[in-house]
Amino acid sequence: MIYDLIIVGGGPAGASAAVYAARKRLKTLMVLEEWGGQSNVSENIQNWIGTPSISGAELAKALKAHVNAYAGEYLEIRTPLRATAVTPNEGSISVTLSNAETVEGLALFVATGANRRKLPALGADEFEHKGLTYCASCDGPLFADQDVVVIGGGNAAFETALQLLAYCKTVSLINRSEEFRADEITVAAAKMNPKMRIITNAETTAVVGEKFVNGLTYKDLKTNTETTLPVTGIFVEIGLIPNSAWLGTTVALTQTQQIVVDPLTQRTSHPRIWAAGDITDGIYHQNNIASGDAVKALEDIYVAVRKNKAA
Ligand SMILES: Cc1cc2nc3c(=O)[nH]c(=O)nc-3n(C[C@H](O)[C@H](O)[C@H](O)COP(=O)(O)OP(=O)(O)OC[C@H]3O[C@@H](n4cnc5c(N)ncnc54)[C@H](O)[C@@H]3O)c2cc1C
Repeated sequence: MIYDLIIVGGGPAGASAAVYAARKRLKTLMVLEEWGGQSNVSENIQNWIGTPSISGAELAKALKAHVNAYAGEYLEIRTPLRATAVTPNEGSISVTLSNAETVEGLALFVATGANRRKLPALGADEFEHKGLTYCASCDGPLFADQDVVVIGGGNAAFETALQLLAYCKTVSLINRSEEFRADEITVAAAKMNPKMRIITNAETTAVVGEKFVNGLTYKDLKTNTETTLPVTGIFVEIGLIPNSAWLGTTVALTQTQQIVVDPLTQRTSHPRIWAAGDITDGIYHQNNIASGDAVKALEDIYVAVRKNKAA
């Protein structure tokens, strides 16, 4: 059989798409590895609109329950299962699954998200959620009036630093090279703040602490000397790894392997494939954005599938 739509992913983008698809009575297959997505591991999400505070695990449960409420004639859910490849056909798209099955749809919605690039330093895994975090907009306010450090030299790192400067006691930024990938204007804004300190040519070697982080050790790559900064918060912004490898060359990707989308419709370079959330080249990545952009995609998919069937 040919589904109207295949949705891949079960984070906020995939779940939002599934609810809208079922309500629009699109014959939909949803394939996902794990419910909830990246913020699953978060202890306390405070900006998922409508819930002042919810853990990542509770959010995953709520998304699953909401989607499952629509399972039935129009929505089939298969999990845990991975999409491993995609093949465009004349009038449809085929998706190969990790159980070696191939499924076919008129449209494909990709919501496979991304994983944060992890800090390759001693103690980084041990102190994750104990002072070390990969999400400033989620955890930043917990570090008000404290000394913190940001690791990275791109826009995300500098934007994070600017955000933290509003309420932290001091913000240090550690960058591996002399040059920054961030826009000059953003770097200049951070440098102007007297609470900001920038350390270049420095490689983070260890996260230190007892129960919680109390310092970060870096090596000066010019002098080979090690220094430990006394900080209680560490914000890592060294990039995302989008889960896009399974798409091969079917859709246009950026240099960093994000799917290029039209922000008005969430269409990709392939006329039967849409994408939303952290897998895309959108500048900002948050749960609410993933959900909202997925809804936008579904509105567009609905129109496209209806036209396709009428033709
Ligand atoms: C630690 C942490 C805390 C965060 N806290 C917040 C917060 O407080 N507030 C906020 O707004 N944002 C937060 N974020 C960001 C937020 O989690 C992401 O923006 C959001 O999860 C993106 O949703 P998504 O649906 O695009 O992708 P993801 O959440 O990454 O979900 C991807 C989904 O696709 C599935 N998948 C991946 N590959 C395949 C495949 N090949 N086949 C089948 N399924 C696949 C996964 O199992 C998962 O279900 C946080 C991020 C992190 C890392």
